[in-house]
Parts: sequence; structure tokens; C-alpha cells
Amino acid sequence: MARLKALPWHDAARAAIGQLLARQVHAVLLHGAAGTGKLDLALDTAEALLCERRVQDGSPCGRCPGCTLVAAGNHPDLRIVRPEALAEADSRIGQAPGEEPAEGASAGAPAEARGRASRGIRIEQIRDLSEWITLSTHRGGARVIVIEPAESMNTPASNALLKVLEEPPARTLFLLVSHRVDETLPTLRSRCALLRVRLPAPAIALGWLQQQGVAQPQQRLIEAGGAPLVAAQAERSGLAPELRDRLLALLRKGARLAAAEVVATVPRDVPVAGSVALFQRWGWDFLAFSLAGTVRYHPDEIPAMRQLGAKWQVPQACSWMSELRIARSFADHPLNAKLAIEGILLSYVRSINGA
Ligand SMILES: [Zn+2]
Repeated sequence: MARLKALPWHDAARAAIGQLLARQVHAVLLHGAAGTGKLDLALDTAEALLCERRVQDGSPCGRCPGCTLVAAGNHPDLRIVRPEALAEADSRIGQAPGEEPAEGASAGAPAEARGRASRGIRIEQIRDLSEWITLSTHRGGARVIVIEPAESMNTPASNALLKVLEEPPARTLFLLVSHRVDETLPTLRSRCALLRVRLPAPAIALGWLQQQGVAQPQQRLIEAGGAPLVAAQAERSGLAPELRDRLLALLRKGARLAAAEVVATVPRDVPVAGSVALFQRWGWDFLAFSLAGTVRYHPDEIPAMRQLGAKWQVPQACSWMSELRIARSFADHPLNAKLAIEGILLSYVRSINGA
């Protein structure tokens, strides 16, 4: 799991964690929109606690055995508990920030799960954990457990964790990360100090995206709903700007879009997840425009939305959106990417025509 260290918008949250730790809090639940680097913040915190040399402001030295082991991903007193599928997808992508983009803010394929690996944190993983924390620490210092995303624990797993949190061993810190805190067990939340990690101010996010070499950072950030890590991920796994523009031109044609144009435009190796995410943003914009007169993702497309609105009915648009949700769930391994995307576009035209 590649790590992004010291993200510039984390200062306030970092200070808040420092205050909680000074009060001997032993469980912190970091929550907020996906794509703000909560997992990275948790790992920064873990590294600071496990640093054996600690520099003045409480930040890790980066050189001692503790820091080196955390950086190498094998500190014996740090456990990172995640769904198997997420860990597997990360190791395959090699550079995923580890956060699942929020629904509606997901350009490009996130580190989503594939295959048979579990998409949730299993109770066995928590049971292992409860055994592990009864052993003495390897390096004689603190012990840190990072659980991400906390909402992926089902009720039995959450209850098992609850038991552990009720009798926490000394010098042990639990850092839970949640992108959808409402989906965590209320009793579990009540055992943790809650800390919300907010979306950064746009100027800070843009500055960071520019540093990361993201082309068209402003557009990417809007598409990502303001979440910088989602924007950066979209750059890596999303659509090239040129293909995105060509697909947008197809969508803009609405009912006048011809099958031959679709076939001629969609390339053989079209990225399915990125295309479906683009279509979803288009659909959301259409619904937002029809229902509230505003758009979120494509501010320049209001004239196109108005034109579409003359023909496309909201219920039909909603059905097309449901199709997209299904398409997205198997977007990672379509049999034929070109056919899949062509099918969605043709269905779009039928949907506008009320078929
Ligand atoms: Zn250190």
C-alpha cells in the first residue's frame, strides 16, 4: 500500500489527534468523505507513535528502526486490518491511495475488489487481532491497529471488536477509518473519539494536485467532488482527456446519436470503469438540472442538459442510471470493453426516445 505522507490539509486533524492522544484516548474513528487521505493520516499517526526517536513537534524521525519498519510495511507492533479484496487490489495497482471513492465522485476504477477475496472485514480477522493484542509488544513500545474501512465490518465483526475495545490493553491505539460513518455500528462509534477529516479548501487541493503532476487539476477536482485523492486516482486510472471529450460529444448528441457514430468512436480498449463513471456524472447532472436547475460536474453542459430535457424523461433517466450501477459492479472484467460501452450508449439513446 503506497502511502502519501503529510498531506497539506491534514494539519488541523493531526493536531486534534495529538490532543486526543494526550488525553489517553485509545480509539479514534477518522471519518469523512472518501479521498481525503484518512488512511494515510492514520498511518502517519501510527508512525509517529512507533517512532523510537521522535523529533520535537511529535512527528516521526523517519530513520529509526521503528520508522523504517513502518515504512517497509512490516512493523511487528502495527496491524492494518482491511478487507482482503481491498488489500489484494492495492497490491495489484501498486499505487492506490487505498480509499474507495464516494458514490458519485468516482472517476476511474478505484481499488475495488475483485475475484473471490472478501469485500468486508471478516470476524476471523478481528479474532486474530484480539489474540494478538494479548501478546507483549515486539519492540517494547506502543502498539497500533488501523482498521479500514470500518463500515466494511459486519455486525458480528463489529461486536467482536467492541469486546476488544471494552478492555483495551495498555499503550494500544485503535485507529478506525470510515468513509460512511453512518454505516458503522452505533455502539462501536460510542467507544471511539470521532474525528471528522474535512475536504480541503479548493486552493490547497489544487496546489497539491498540481504538485502531483495532474493535468487539468481543476476539472479533475470538480469531477471528484472536491476529494483530491479521488481526483489523483482518476488521473491514473481514468479516461484520457481526449477520449473523455469524444465520449462527452456523443452524450451531447442525445436522441440524434447514431449507432454508427457510437461504433466508430468507442475504441477497442476503452476503459470501462472510467467511461461508466463519466456516464454516471452525466446522468447525475441531468437529474440535478431537471429537478433543481443546477449541475455539479459539467458546468459547461447546461445548454446540452436543457436540450436533453425537452425529450428525456426523469424516470427513463433513472432507469438508465440503474443500468450504469450494474455495469459498474462488473466493470473490472467485462468480456468485451468496446461492446459493453457501446451497449450503454445505445441504451442511452433508447432511453431518451422513451423506449
Ligand atoms: Zn523514528
